[in-house]
Amino acid sequence: MKLLFERSVAGRKQTIFPDLDVPEATFDETLIRQSAPRLPQMAEVDLGRHYTELAKQTHGVNDGFYPLGSCTMKYNPRVNEQVAALPGFADIHPLQPEETVQGCLGAMHELEGMLAEICGMDAMTLQPAAGAHGEYTGLLLIRAHHLANGDTGRTKIIVPDSAHGTNPASAVMAGFTVVSVPSDAQGGVDLDALRAAVGPDTAGLMLTNPNTLGLFDPNIVEICQIIHEAGGLCYYDGANLNAVMGHARPGDMGFDCVHVNLHKTFSTPHGGGGPGSGPVGCKAFLAPYLPNPRVVERPDGTLAFSCDEQSVGKVRSFYGNFLVAVRALAYILTLGREGIPEASASAVLNANYLAHFLSEAGYVLPYGERCMHEFVIDVGPLKAETGVSAMDVAKRLLDFGVHPPTMYFPLIVHEALMAEPTETESRETLDEFVGLMTGILKEAHEDGERLHSAPFTCPIGRPDEVKAARKPHVRYEFDEEG
Ligand SMILES: *Cc1c(COP(=O)(O)O)cnc(C)c1O
Repeated sequence: MKLLFERSVAGRKQTIFPDLDVPEATFDETLIRQSAPRLPQMAEVDLGRHYTELAKQTHGVNDGFYPLGSCTMKYNPRVNEQVAALPGFADIHPLQPEETVQGCLGAMHELEGMLAEICGMDAMTLQPAAGAHGEYTGLLLIRAHHLANGDTGRTKIIVPDSAHGTNPASAVMAGFTVVSVPSDAQGGVDLDALRAAVGPDTAGLMLTNPNTLGLFDPNIVEICQIIHEAGGLCYYDGANLNAVMGHARPGDMGFDCVHVNLHKTFSTPHGGGGPGSGPVGCKAFLAPYLPNPRVVERPDGTLAFSCDEQSVGKVRSFYGNFLVAVRALAYILTLGREGIPEASASAVLNANYLAHFLSEAGYVLPYGERCMHEFVIDVGPLKAETGVSAMDVAKRLLDFGVHPPTMYFPLIVHEALMAEPTETESRETLDEFVGLMTGILKEAHEDGERLHSAPFTCPIGRPDEVKAARKPHVRYEFDEEG
């Protein structure tokens, strides 16, 4: 499609200014630009069409199925948006006196309490801006705990190889060294390798559960015991809470600290860099280290911000992405005690339904058909047989208006496609997806060569992904006179 600059026609405009009816202002010569800015000149209708055309080229949850594994791209009920747009929430200033924002502090306090209950924790902070930021914050708590005990030799964080990629990155950001432990044949943490990895230098473990294979580790209690016996603490990456909320609580499994992704599990539209929120919960002994300030209830029942001297400090300006928290509160209140476990049960049911029928269709599921909220397809055998890769399958899906599953992740499955349907998809949508995937399998066997050129209907097919990410071409280059 044409860019705005290419649609520009000199002299065309859309603003009609009224005649000047105030004294004309004069500026210092040096402040006045020498040439007019090279802005596109076009009529309002053409501008509108340009952006509509762009919007049609994107894909969101409102366009179609979006089974992007590890991302929980569920439908976000519009009522959450309405609540977050209420002036009492949206039109406040972060430096307003506490007595004028008691309702907002109440919303934060109430959400913290609910998340703590869902996670089996004692205290919560809403400050971290995303999941990875929550991991970093949680690790700072673990670090503060060891340092407070004079335990300065605990420098290592154990991260199983089935963890989300942010786990080792956060551990390094927080100043730790990462020790990777392998998975066993069933996709869980290899306990012998874990026992061999712990020692007096173990600060803790980060466990993504369910892990990136979509599996709930059956040895989770024992894993926590092994770490605790070695003097380390246990961190639960709760970004996959959509699989277990209302059924199992990290705190009950033995974890000391957890983060949740409000923008995944608790219904805020995400992707494309919108605001997220990664609240961190912890057991009481870690609570003094939580970021400042925290919302506390005064003896007279009013709410206030309070700072603790032992705190790791601030991890974000002000109090976190407040309106994401408001959406989460609206979502939890809407679902209630029955709805929360029902949502996760449906997410797991949908994933198992898809896994079963894709396996029947002929796709290889290396860790079996039973999963939690997501599962991994191994396209390796198909590639060996027909040359068609996970990339080819994903690209072909684009032709049918479906967002592909996550590709080439987790790394332990080389030709991985990781699918997460979420609870908000209907059986009809899941059946349609199975139909598309079955069709692609057939195409692969009939003419695998052709699939290397998919997609056939998209404006851009196969960009150089590294170059697109590292050297994005985002500036328009004017020709001479332009
Ligand atoms: C998404 C995700 C994260 C990171 O969350 P962000 O909000 O993207 O920083 C961490 N762990 C798991 C398991 C995830 O799925």
